[in-house]
Amino acid sequence: MTDGYDLAIIGSGPGGYVAAIRAGQLGLRVAIIEREPELGGVCLNWGCIPSKSLLANAEMVRFVERKAGEFGLGFESFSYDWQQAVKRSRRVVKRMTRGVAGLMKKNQVTVVSGEARFVDANTLAIEGGEVERVEARHVIVATGSRARLLPGMVADGEKIITSRHAVNLDQVPGRLLIMGAGAVGMELAYVYSAYGAQVVVIEMLDRVLPLEDAEAGAVVARHFEKLGIGLRVATRVEEVDTSGDGVVLTVSGGGETSTIEGDKVLVAIGRAPNTEGLGLEDIGVESERGFVQTDEYGRTTVEHVFAIGDIAGPPMLAHKASHEGVVAVETIAGREAHPVDATFIPSCTYCHPQVASIGLTEEMAREAGYEVQVSKFPFMAIGKAVAIADYEGWVKIVSDTRYGEILGATIVGPDATELIHELALARSAELTADEIAEMVHAHPTLSEALHEAALGVSGAPLHI
Ligand code: FAD
Repeated sequence: MTDGYDLAIIGSGPGGYVAAIRAGQLGLRVAIIEREPELGGVCLNWGCIPSKSLLANAEMVRFVERKAGEFGLGFESFSYDWQQAVKRSRRVVKRMTRGVAGLMKKNQVTVVSGEARFVDANTLAIEGGEVERVEARHVIVATGSRARLLPGMVADGEKIITSRHAVNLDQVPGRLLIMGAGAVGMELAYVYSAYGAQVVVIEMLDRVLPLEDAEAGAVVARHFEKLGIGLRVATRVEEVDTSGDGVVLTVSGGGETSTIEGDKVLVAIGRAPNTEGLGLEDIGVESERGFVQTDEYGRTTVEHVFAIGDIAGPPMLAHKASHEGVVAVETIAGREAHPVDATFIPSCTYCHPQVASIGLTEEMAREAGYEVQVSKFPFMAIGKAVAIADYEGWVKIVSDTRYGEILGATIVGPDATELIHELALARSAELTADEIAEMVHAHPTLSEALHEAALGVSGAPLHI
């Protein structure tokens, strides 16, 4: 035990900094330790925020190119400037990270610069900053993750890049190869293709966005193909050769081996937890394949030491990290906390069309043995979607036939990542689709597609 801080938090991503705010609100004496020059972690500096900022640019470019004419808008001398797009995204990042610094002050959180390592379960040695030691009654480990690479691969930032490089490149590569068709790969494929790169996405599994509803992935794949983005699914990268001018990938699939050439390859095949060098094993914190083992409140195998966010395992999402941060701090403060239920955590991909989901997909629900009722309603039959000329996609609600329980939902289409929250709330409040159907939804809105899908569960959608 120590008379230092009540709580020390290692890492200032959306897990760590939100935990620090909540701890400050609850009157704990708290220090947050960050090794990077800016607060905010991957999410604010290199992930969610810069990528969404670049996606906003890409959407505008695509709108002008593909839709402006339909709206009677002409841009004869239309031009776009990638460097301005990146500069704007860095300004957005700066504004958000400054905001976090302000929130630390407001909540009396001490910010300590440097890299932390456990000396014992209550003491951290800090390297690279002014403070050398932090002692605390409780520690939250929120050290996040980094891009996973193939064994022996080095991301040189030139020919082999990760998303961290990709959100900050000074030039658009002529030919960009992207390994991995998950959210990060697909979002950056959309961005770079809009800015003129010839993009090919290579995915080992048999479809894009493999964690999402298969039909939703197919909608996105069709759209990407229309945009000229190459998609090679069920294709495994066997070798990456950077010895020539560009990059040559040797790939295998369908019993054949071939090569694909590009100027750069972006590796987006997943994230590896930042567990090394923390001394976790020395103090008895158990990990499995690098992810710290925790209970539903974020407690590790060592009393007083908690872990949250990417380091505590999937889903590796910012809002999951933040929620876990709040739960861990409330537990530390002796409050009754609401543990995280993974089935309520929305999963979102922000390319165009967007995909958002909660709970079980249709396929997963059937595999889990439920008697499944599926209701799907297309945006094409929704006035607002047609008015904004963005009606590719649908809302799908998966419920169980016995009690009408909503097991999951997927939305692919306009504003899917905003719309999903009505269904997430319904699911967490244990509402049935009938109860959503009874609620009046404003007209004309995209939310009417949710209303119609809910009506469809009992077989009576109105506008189809
Ligand atoms: P991180 O954000 O990784 O922060 C960890 C921090 O700990 C870092 O700042 C690191 O420097 C610091 N640290 C590590 N070790 C030490 C140490 N020993 N001492 C001191 N400091 C240390 N998620 C979403 O929900 N929505 C999105 O749209 C989204 N988009 C993404 C786009 C991209 C390109 C990427 C790469 C990720 C995206 N994510 C998104 C995922 C999201 O960024 C992560 O889930 C989230 O950042 C995890 O938060 P965290 O607090 O666990 O860790």
